[in-house]
Amino acid sequence: MVSAKVSANNGIQVDYQGKRFALDPTSPARADYTFVSHAHVDHMHTPSRNATVIASEETRELAAARGFDLGDTVESVDGADTLDSGHILGSRALAVGEEVYYTGDASGRERGFLGKCKTRRSRVLIMESTFGSPEYVFPQTAKLVKEVNSLVGEMFHRGRPVVLMGYPLGKAQLLTYYFSTWSPLIVHSGVARMNEIYASHGVPLKVGTVFDPADGTDSLPRGPWVMISPMSSGRSQLMSELRRKHGAVLVAFSGWAAREGYRRSIGADFAFPLSDHCDYPELVRLVQGVSPDVVYTTHGFAAEFAADLRHMGFTARPLAPYQSSLGDFANGD
Ligand SMILES: [Zn+2]
Repeated sequence: MVSAKVSANNGIQVDYQGKRFALDPTSPARADYTFVSHAHVDHMHTPSRNATVIASEETRELAAARGFDLGDTVESVDGADTLDSGHILGSRALAVGEEVYYTGDASGRERGFLGKCKTRRSRVLIMESTFGSPEYVFPQTAKLVKEVNSLVGEMFHRGRPVVLMGYPLGKAQLLTYYFSTWSPLIVHSGVARMNEIYASHGVPLKVGTVFDPADGTDSLPRGPWVMISPMSSGRSQLMSELRRKHGAVLVAFSGWAAREGYRRSIGADFAFPLSDHCDYPELVRLVQGVSPDVVYTTHGFAAEFAADLRHMGFTARPLAPYQSSLGDFANGD
């Protein structure tokens, strides 16, 4: 059998049939192919000019808007192709033959305009495990959206503006999509550029009024409104001022909100567990969908989730992707 070798050193490397794949490296990698799963900056670097970069067109554009030039990109190469991972616009998983399936960041549920992570039978699965602990079970998205809408309605009734906060790429576009029925809709300038790119790819996002914090909060209208904003602590200068001058209510959206204490740690008034990642049951279903001989987990609860998978009868181990001292793992042992 042809074997793939998986190692962790500047991202993850997979050697397969004489070719080296660098998966989400954080600096230019010596590899035949560099795979960029999506445009979040924790996965991002500017590859060397002669690298063959596998990434979606959406990822290339979003990366460019954030200052990372991926150069020419391809969606597949001989022996490897990409599948939707459901995380953000353009996010992809990579299938290397029938040997290796790498999810990057992935979501296990459809949300608005986003699908869920596709699976493909593979011998080795390398997967994210950000929320790989059983207490992370996210509510149904439709139920969450309904709860938020009734909260916003209550605040509008009292004449109070509402700031909806999430990561500026990914979460903020979902928030714009779900909550732009409210008017006036104000979009923080840190979100507006990403919204534009989404819209250019056919995602129906309302433009709203763009707010640049450099213009000061006095430029904002009186009375209730909804603002889509990057995640920011309630103690930050902007958020303190929005509270003090406008009576704004701060609402944070993150998978970590499933945990007691998150809302207080970020200084928000409300927090909802809306995530672009798999929750625990979705991670387990992802493994079952790929039905691998070996699972490597990365990010978050990597060790805990690998241990749980072993209890379920899988061969699984954590792969710490950014420890350069880590030795190579031969698979299947
Ligand atoms: Zn991500």
